[in-house]
Amino acid sequence: MTEPNLEEIQNIENLLVNPSHEKLEELKQKFLTKLCEEFKVDLSEFNGEMAIIKTQITALQTLKMHRLNCGVQKYGWGRRGRDSKVALFKQSQDPSFTITDSETYAELWMGTHSNCPSKINNTELLSDYIKSNPQQILGDKIVEHFYTKSDTLKTGDLPFLFKVLSINQALSIQAHPNKTLAAQLNKNDPKNYPDSNHKPEMLISISENFQALCGFRPIEEILTHLENYPELKTLCQGDHGLSSEKNEKNLKLCFSAMMNQSDSIVSEQLNLLKKRLESSSNRSDLENLFLDLDRQYSNDVGCFSIFLLNLIHMKKGEAIYLSANIPHAYLYGDGVECMACSDNVVRAGLTPKFKDVGILCEMLDYSMKSSEENKLNGFRVNNFMIDYKPSVDEFSVQVIKIDNSEVLTNGRLEIPSVQSGSILIVTEASEGLKFECNGESFEVKEGYVYFIECDKEINLTSESENCVLNAFRAYCDIKN
Ligand SMILES: [Zn+2]
Repeated sequence: MTEPNLEEIQNIENLLVNPSHEKLEELKQKFLTKLCEEFKVDLSEFNGEMAIIKTQITALQTLKMHRLNCGVQKYGWGRRGRDSKVALFKQSQDPSFTITDSETYAELWMGTHSNCPSKINNTELLSDYIKSNPQQILGDKIVEHFYTKSDTLKTGDLPFLFKVLSINQALSIQAHPNKTLAAQLNKNDPKNYPDSNHKPEMLISISENFQALCGFRPIEEILTHLENYPELKTLCQGDHGLSSEKNEKNLKLCFSAMMNQSDSIVSEQLNLLKKRLESSSNRSDLENLFLDLDRQYSNDVGCFSIFLLNLIHMKKGEAIYLSANIPHAYLYGDGVECMACSDNVVRAGLTPKFKDVGILCEMLDYSMKSSEENKLNGFRVNNFMIDYKPSVDEFSVQVIKIDNSEVLTNGRLEIPSVQSGSILIVTEASEGLKFECNGESFEVKEGYVYFIECDKEINLTSESENCVLNAFRAYCDIKN
């Protein structure tokens, strides 16, 4: 039999929200008459088909949560083979996916970005599905805010992109422009800045030691490093009065001088420090990192930035939020990352790619803070959930962490609904767990990713006593 068209599906859905016996009867007659015309048969022969139509209607009404198949990016900095969470999660979603030991698996993309879009049940694009009824699937408020009032998103797109990162080698030191600068860069240089949107991002560690560079260090640490590493001081051309006037203006002069040094001076000072450190018998972790970065990116001025930027160690579940103009680089570990949909990056080092030193030195936030101050504190919602809510409308991320079955009353736990379409990834799960949503049951396994429609509550059920679940859920969160 033929499938009902989109308009008919919508009519049926509307009827199911506001059932009217008369209208259902009318629709049934219309539908059957059409089928009979098409197949040139008597209406009376079609009574049995009503069962199929009812099944279709029921499926439309009940499926408010969907398993996603997500794409993988194999950038060179990713972890190799089965060491990569990205590869393992992908294989869990799609058992036909083969993992090759020699290949790097860097990122798993969960969302609608056209470079690597997720699919529902490996067939329909998530963006096409959202397009079929954005108000109901994403939520009225989201549609109004991101589609009606702004033109940065296409209908069907999610306002955020959610990722898993498996990092073996440092990513470039970078910062992301605010909305005004993003639009300006895009207008003046569309080749290097293909996007006019801002790109706030947040990273939550899923491994026990995620390392990143983030924001400028407190002034005392910067001054100590300038004294302990004369090679750094040479590159910065002195301390520009930073030791007496401890302000952001002088730090900017130091950093800009370093970034604008010629390649030959950078290479000379790099080799001097390298030799000195290699001959030292008790190197600090930071000094070992310097040598590591030099092995990864030789003759790159970015190796010196570790003395000016905070080196942050994050435990499982800890987060950093990178608002506009904060210099940062991810160095090592596994994490989930959420960001606004944009490609706008201004790079500063640890990269062979295009660097825009002038723009970068001008735009950076030179405030000097400790590692701890750079971490983002979440709000505890209840004893199994923490909500990380940075001050942007595009996204917030909930961390769901359960490590015993006591929290499950009668074997069930309610995970509250959110007022937007959301994406949930399971990073750890014990056997026998299930999600229930709108009467449908879904298996819960490490690496599984789900799209949940707006305002739909999920229940977690467990068959066993020992219940372990780690999950992360990105959703859109209009703050005002
Ligand atoms: Zn970034």
